[in-house]
Amino acid sequence: MYYLNHSKTEKEIVESSKEILIKNNFKDIKTVSELHPGDRIFFVNKNRNIFAAVIGEDPITTGLRVVAAHADSPRIDLKQNPLYENSGFAYLKTHYYGGIRKYQWATIPLAMHGLIVKSNGDKINITYGEDETEPTLMITDLPPHLSQAQDERKLKEGITGEELNIMVGSIPYSNENISEKIKLNVLNILNEKYGIKEIDFTTSELEFVPAFKARSMGFDSSMVASYGQDDKVCSYTALRGILNLRNPKKTAICVLTDREEVGFMGVSGMESRIFETFILEILEKRNENSPNALNKAFSNSKALSADVDAAQDPNYPDVFDKYNSSKLGHGVCIVKYGGARGKSGSSESPAEFVAEVKKIFDENNISYHSSELGKVDKGGGGTIALTLANRGMEVLDCGVPILCMHSPYEICSKYDIYQAYRAYEAFYKG
Ligand code: MN
Ligand code: MN
Repeated sequence: MYYLNHSKTEKEIVESSKEILIKNNFKDIKTVSELHPGDRIFFVNKNRNIFAAVIGEDPITTGLRVVAAHADSPRIDLKQNPLYENSGFAYLKTHYYGGIRKYQWATIPLAMHGLIVKSNGDKINITYGEDETEPTLMITDLPPHLSQAQDERKLKEGITGEELNIMVGSIPYSNENISEKIKLNVLNILNEKYGIKEIDFTTSELEFVPAFKARSMGFDSSMVASYGQDDKVCSYTALRGILNLRNPKKTAICVLTDREEVGFMGVSGMESRIFETFILEILEKRNENSPNALNKAFSNSKALSADVDAAQDPNYPDVFDKYNSSKLGHGVCIVKYGGARGKSGSSESPAEFVAEVKKIFDENNISYHSSELGKVDKGGGGTIALTLANRGMEVLDCGVPILCMHSPYEICSKYDIYQAYRAYEAFYKG
């Protein structure tokens, strides 16, 4: 819960994970010239994703043991020209990131996280609205007294993308004979606090996330409720799992990637060649590099795509196949295939590999169950599994069942979180 509260965005996850790794004797790969079995290293890419490794006894070309999770979560980003004034209020225009149910994001406290790069290159890191002494920021909604027309809309249009405007001020700037005084007042406050001008929004990455804190859930305290557990619950357990490794046989790799929620693209996404760059650097520093060493390493590798799965919600039984849905409190779920409408877009794990993973879990007394995401033809989804399969690795989806996925406050079972930690640790070793 500490990790969830202090790492709400991908960049913050990189920072807090790096801190944890350094405390556990992992070194930046750039600072070492040779690698030996037992060495612990990490690699940060553009401050947006991080890979960690413990070097194994066997050659890299005999394959890696990879556990890959993603550090980004659905949220609300700002548009490039966000600030405007309308009828007595200043607002920020937004463009949401990842799949959200838009109506869930109004009338909740929001905090602003991210960075602004000024024209002189100065980078300003911002966290605003997390501290209870700081003001919060919000998207408004209609009262039920006036929502008659809005209530007739389809739920997915209850609040539209263009209505997700964040209210940020209401006091006009004084002694100034100009229009848009409220907007000016907000700009003035931001200028005093961060030294920025309006144009600097065009070189910013400001992400709005729920200002809630993670909490235990249920009278029995059996669950965790928090923003961003997709996929920080797997990021954290994958990271914790690799910390315990001493002298593994195969080189173990923990991947915390970015941009999963928008299709893995971009310089910090898993479709980027940066993962190859990292493995090539390991090959180079292990003195193993040769023209086909990378492909050999990949094709002999085994991976878990560590991501959450939509668990059966008894309140909404229509969309879940109760015989095949993941369930909270039953340990990690193994998802052989994802996709939608006839397994479309799924890399599907070969049965032989599923058996191999199950054997590791059985030998280590790890609770697991096999599942798929919802009923056939009700929807679906995918993970970065296919990007690892494309590289020639055997890969299986294995993660923590989750309720209210992609909502501002998601629910996981503490038991499952602990099983995930043990499962990933065992897989790195196996
Ligand atoms: Mn996910
Ligand atoms: Mn997701």
